[in-house]
Order: sequence, then C-alpha cells, then structure tokens
Amino acid sequence: MEVKTSLLDNMIGVGDMVLLEPLNEDSFIENLRSRFDHNEIYTYIGSVVISMNPYRSLPIYTPQKVEEYRNRNFYELSPHIYALADEAYRSLRDQDKDQCILITGESGAGKTEASKLVMSYVAAVCGKGQEVNKVKEQLLQSNPVLEAFGNAKTMRNDNSSRFGKYMDIEFDFKGDPLGGVISNYLLEKSRVCKQPRGERNFHIFYQLLSGNAMQIVGFMEDEVQSVLELVAAVLKLGNIEFKPESRVNGFDESRVKDKNGETTGGLDNRQLYCGTQFPVTVHMDTHLTFLNNFCAYYARDALAKNLYSRLFSWLVTRINESIKVGPLFAKTRHKVMGVLDIYGFEIFEDNSFEQFIINYCNEKLQQIFIELTLREEQEEYIREDIEWTNIVYFNNAVICDLIENNQNGILAMLDEECLRPGTVTDDTFLDKLNTICAEHQHFESRLSKNSKFLTDHSLPHSCFRIQHYAGKVLYRVEGFVDKNNDLLYRDLSQAMYKATHSLMRQLFPEGNPAKVNLKRPPTAGFQFKASVGVLMKNLQTKNPNYIRCIKPNDKKVAHIFTDSLVCHQVRYLGLMENVRVRRAGYAFRQPYESCLKRYKMLCKTTWPQWRGPARDGVAVLLTDCSVPTEEFAYGRSKIFIRNPRTLFTLEERRRAC
Ligand code: ADP
Ligand code: MG
Repeated sequence: MEVKTSLLDNMIGVGDMVLLEPLNEDSFIENLRSRFDHNEIYTYIGSVVISMNPYRSLPIYTPQKVEEYRNRNFYELSPHIYALADEAYRSLRDQDKDQCILITGESGAGKTEASKLVMSYVAAVCGKGQEVNKVKEQLLQSNPVLEAFGNAKTMRNDNSSRFGKYMDIEFDFKGDPLGGVISNYLLEKSRVCKQPRGERNFHIFYQLLSGNAMQIVGFMEDEVQSVLELVAAVLKLGNIEFKPESRVNGFDESRVKDKNGETTGGLDNRQLYCGTQFPVTVHMDTHLTFLNNFCAYYARDALAKNLYSRLFSWLVTRINESIKVGPLFAKTRHKVMGVLDIYGFEIFEDNSFEQFIINYCNEKLQQIFIELTLREEQEEYIREDIEWTNIVYFNNAVICDLIENNQNGILAMLDEECLRPGTVTDDTFLDKLNTICAEHQHFESRLSKNSKFLTDHSLPHSCFRIQHYAGKVLYRVEGFVDKNNDLLYRDLSQAMYKATHSLMRQLFPEGNPAKVNLKRPPTAGFQFKASVGVLMKNLQTKNPNYIRCIKPNDKKVAHIFTDSLVCHQVRYLGLMENVRVRRAGYAFRQPYESCLKRYKMLCKTTWPQWRGPARDGVAVLLTDCSVPTEEFAYGRSKIFIRNPRTLFTLEERRRAC
C-alpha cells in the first residue's frame, strides 16, 4: 500500500485497516463504528473499499464530489467509493487494463446501490457527445427494468435484488463507452409462488396491478405488451385451484375448480388449465390422465416458476440486444469494466440448496480474491525488484474441490443421485454423501485432516455441515434433489408451446412436438457450476477492485450500529483474512520522493532539502532514525516497509517535531 498522507492526517479512526494497531476483531469493529458515527461510511483495506450502509442519503455523491475525486490519487483524499471507481476507470483508459468491480455483502448491505454509484461515476467522467450519451443512458436504464422483474420487498431490504448480476461495460480505446453485456445468476423463482411472511412478490406484479405503464428503452410496444401478458399468466396460474373430482383405481383425479374467464392477457385459459390438469398425458387427444391434487398443485407451481424465470432470462437477452456494441465497433478491441453485484455468503437457521449454491459461489470468489491479490502483490514485487516473501494464507481450494470436483464433489454426487433410476430421495443423497465422504476420511488421512465436510454426532437429522472459509454452515438436505432436478413435466412445455402466444412459444422451444428431445435438461447445480466457471474465467483476466458492503443494523434505519451484526459480517466477508493478506510481506510502500517529503524533518542531513537521488535520502533518513534494516527493502521506485508499527513510530516523531 502506498502510505496515504491524507489517511494519517485529521482522520476519524483509521482510514485504512492496514494501519490498524493492534489488529484484532474488536479494534476492527470499533474503527468501523467510530467512522460510521462520524458519517465516514467508507474505509479501506489497502485498495479494498468497505462500505457501511448509512440508510439515509448523505451529501457525498454530488457533482462536486465527482470533480473532487476525478483524476486524483487513491490515497490523496478520504476513503470513498468514487476513489475506487476513478482508479479503476483510469487504469482501464490509460493503462489498457481490463477491470472488474466485485461487490459482495449480505442482503440490504448496499451492493446494488454501490454498483449504481460506480456506474454513475464512470458515466459522469467518461466521454461526452450525443452517441456516447445514448449508450450511457441505455446502460443505466437497464437497471430499472431488471429491478422491476428481479427485485422484491423482503424483510432485509425493501428493494432486494433476487438474482445475481454481472455486467460488462465495453469501452473504446479513448475510454468512451460502446455498450455492454449482462449475465444473470440464479433468480429466486420460488418467490413467484410463495413469499415468506411480511415479504412481497417481485415488484412487477404490483406495478402491473396498479397499471403503471412500463416504459422500456429499446423495447417495442408489442413486446412490452407480450411481456406483461405473460406476467398476467403467471398471476393467473397462482390463482388456479383444484378439487379432487373422481377416483380411478384408487387415485384422486383433480380438476381446475373455477374456470373464470376465457383468456388471460391474450392467452387462452384452456392452455393454462391444460398444462396444470393433465401434464402426464400419454396421448393428449386419446388418453387423458388427470393428476392427483398434490401433483396438480406441484405442476401449477413448477409451471409458474419456470415461466417467470424463462421470461426473466428472455428480458436479459433482449436488453443485451439493445445495449450490445454497435456493428461499427464490434470488431475492434474493447476495454472492459465488469461490475458484479452478487449475494454474499449466507447462513440462515435453515440453509437449503440455494444457500449451498450461493456459498459455493462465494468460495469461488474468495479463491479468486486470494489468487488475484497475491498475483498483484507478486507483480509489484517483480516490478520493484524486491525479493518475494512467501505469504502464508488460508487456501480454500479444498472447500471448492469438495463441492465441485467432477468425480466425488457434492454437486457431482447430487447429479448422480438425481439421474439414478429407482427411488431417489433427499435422504438417499445424504447417505451417499456420508458414505463417500467417510470413505475419503478413512482412506486418505491427508484429506481427513483437512476435511471440510464435518461429521459429528451433534448433526441434526437430514443435515450435513461444511466448514466454509467464512465459517461452519449446516445444510438441510430437504429439497436438494427436487431443486437440482428442476424438472418441468415434458407435457407442460408442450402445452405451453401449443399456446397461440408467440413469446410463450419462444420461451418453451422444447415443447415443439417436432423437436422432442428425450435427453434430460442439465440440472440446476450443473448449470450454476458452469456459469460460475465462466464468470471466474472472465474475472481472472481482469484487474480486480473490491467493494465489501456491510449493513449496520437489521432495522433498515440510520444511526444504529449493532456490533454483533457487524461482527458477523466482518467474519463472513473474510475481512480479517483480507487485512492479513494485505499486511503480509511488506505492509506499506511509498515512492521515495513522497517518503522523503513527509519525513525529511526527522533527520538533520535531509532537512530542509536533500540534494541527490531521493532513494539515497530515504536511506540516510531511515538509518538516522535507527529503523532496523530487516524492516524495509529498497524497490526501484519505492521504499517497502514491513510493519505498520515502523510507520507509526515515524509518524509520532513527526508529530513531536
Ligand atoms: P443490497 O443490494 O446489498 O441488498 P441495496 O443496495 O439494495 O442492498 O441497499 C438497500 C437499501 O439501503 C437501499 O434501498 C437504500 O435505501 C439504502 N442504501 C444502500 N446504500 C446506500 C448509500 N450509499 N447511501 C444511502 N442509502 C443507501
Ligand atoms: Mg441488491
């Protein structure tokens, strides 16, 4: 880290956690708290920005602030998200390095706001002109559309994004934006059918009901109409009820209770009923098999969830159409800034398949964090010709492997179980997991010592426990098989394809009887693993910038800072480990000129003016101050200092002067 002059002067607490002494969880949280109390919501860990949600609007995002942070060195001003955005944008523009901004934190911590702040900062400082402004407008306008369909009011956040989002913004060689590409991850589609108490369905359902006209950049009027019709169809599905009507061979057969109305938003209701009433028909026209009550409701919900999530993916694809780089520039090389707004590590009382998948994604992000941070460090050491000191850190590769290994990783075992003929239940999956993991522990003592699959007698029934980098998490297997299978009865797709609605047909292409595909669609776990893999590959080629968001209380109010809650997040974000990695090796580095300028008054020879190379001046200065030689190293352009305490000693002397 450069020594940040402004971080040492007139600071509330410490602006950079790397400078925190002593460093422990208590002092870390105390520092966050005292800064938060003084409206300093941003704090650095080196170049990582910690952002505390203030839950009220602070006057720190004005055009004046943008100007203040524009083209300034990261460390010249007090910590701010604009400093990170500026640094990222400038190194993209001037050094031709692709960037990614990784924003993590739990629900309500401020990730989405942070991603918007970064985007609006970049929009404010990058090129001007009619064409460029149009591109900017489209990129920024994609947000409200996705939020209407992908966000909902929850207990934790009134505008909670229920999907992960990654957006690549592409620039030309001058740094003017050309367009972008959005990827979405794991929409929480179960919300369509069921919302936890006190929470709501996706915003669009209410906007639809209150007749908000939806105005979307780049969408044709009839497309908007089609989309809203399908939203109405999802609502309609949710209202369909069944009653058992007859018993055949001892089984109930269920029929739709009240067949109100003929159409729903241009869709023939018979198609919807058809889909839910007898999805397991052998031959639709000759032999109808009605579902029993339980299966009918199950099919109804599966259809509603599927329809909505396919609609959402279609929207993303459609938005990508309108924001993609125009043909004129499509072939030239672009510089890219990726912004990732994705759910953080989750530990609830009941952790299910969703948490398992989300936490897997966070393990991968942690892995890439370590890899990229160390790589960045290593590159600077090589540039500066400093001997590389090995950094001891916690490598979470074992945990990633436990989950994603193609042979015996948990996801592979789940897939295998889902594909196995015979009776498959969540418990048979768990048995298998326990057997295989126990075998490992038995045969490979090396593995057992490091095992992250925890087996002990305190495990409740139907659960397994994993030691994640951020802590132990107990997962309940109920629903794993079903959620991973994510199967839609084939006949449901066929019924939807029969609909006279062209968008509906587009969403269920496999329902086309001419293209019957007997192969099973890939499982949810498989798909997620693949998309996380693509994401990681993409991130690996970029220079990372981190924003770690923290929520100060769970009342969604200003001014309250709950220690225990913050502590929990500090742990799950792996922030202490973060500081340790940053402090390992040489904690500080500073160009010789700035070091000399700041401390020259500590030594008679360098005061008031040192004549000669700054490097020699610094050498004289440090020797004169009796800093032990093992405490520092001379780089090509910078002095490297191992321990923050050395710096504090110098600072104290400086103050005493
Ligand atoms: P997340 O995406 O992490 O779930 P959001 O970004 O949606 O959280 O933030 C939740 C709410 O917190 C926002 O709707 C807003 O009211 C408030 N908030 C977050 N960040 C800020 C900020 N920097 N300034 C003011 N309010 C904020
Ligand atoms: Mg969000």
